[in-house]
Amino acid sequence: MSEYVQHFPLGEATISIISIGDLRWDQQEALGVPESEWRPRYTASFEQPLQIPIQMVHIAAPGVSLLVDVGVYDYPASWADTLLIPGYTPPPGLMERLGEMGVQPEDISQVVITHAHTDHFNGATRLEGGRYVPTFPHARYYLSRADWDALDASGWLQRPDAPASHTLVPLAEQGALELVDGDYELGQGIRLVSAPGETPGHQLVRVESAGQVLYCLGDLYHHPVEVEQPTWMQVGIDRDATIRTRAAFAETALTEDALLIATHIPGLGRLTRTPEGVAWVTVNP
Ligand SMILES: [Zn+2]
Repeated sequence: MSEYVQHFPLGEATISIISIGDLRWDQQEALGVPESEWRPRYTASFEQPLQIPIQMVHIAAPGVSLLVDVGVYDYPASWADTLLIPGYTPPPGLMERLGEMGVQPEDISQVVITHAHTDHFNGATRLEGGRYVPTFPHARYYLSRADWDALDASGWLQRPDAPASHTLVPLAEQGALELVDGDYELGQGIRLVSAPGETPGHQLVRVESAGQVLYCLGDLYHHPVEVEQPTWMQVGIDRDATIRTRAAFAETALTEDALLIATHIPGLGRLTRTPEGVAWVTVNP
């Protein structure tokens, strides 16, 4: 098994974590936390930039072949100075990995976009005969209405150079996009859970099978330090909403003893209570 792909059972479902490559993550820049607060406890993860993965999740369950987020390792030039690693070559992409698993594009029944940040949706369409069409022709794509409205209000849907204009917009025009308000049942024990903060309509995917619970967290946390320090978050996002969402989620995850996959934290995890609060622990599938 590749280090970039992990599979494990969750009740009757099979979960696959597929990394499409790493980004550069400079926590000093990203979180904007004063040095006096991160030193000395978090020196190792703040003093130099980290490499963090971009992980998509595939959920196979009876009657379901669902993807959580759909990215390709192809980013705007503006990312070069901040998020890209000089000289980095990414591993095989999502489509190759699905192919290795025997999953064809036609097989995917649902695609959930946790939030409208480029790394989570830029693989939603592909070019065919000069026109953008859904990468997964039979899938319903689920995005929160709040994220769509925010992109629309900021003009990002209309800008030809913006990823949304050749992914989310064609999905909507071709009738493949479902805009979701709040929590939403997808059936088969799978539910979208509203988790605003990172974006106005950021959403989690909750999967329950045979008593086991998994949450796909999107960018609720980018790194385990944000679990321990829930007031630390990416500069510029909605602070109050993030703190509220994280507090409620941590209680739920602990109560449910849930397994967790965050897009940018490698592999599988769980939350655990500590004397100071909550921490992330890595779990071996
Ligand atoms: Zn992200």
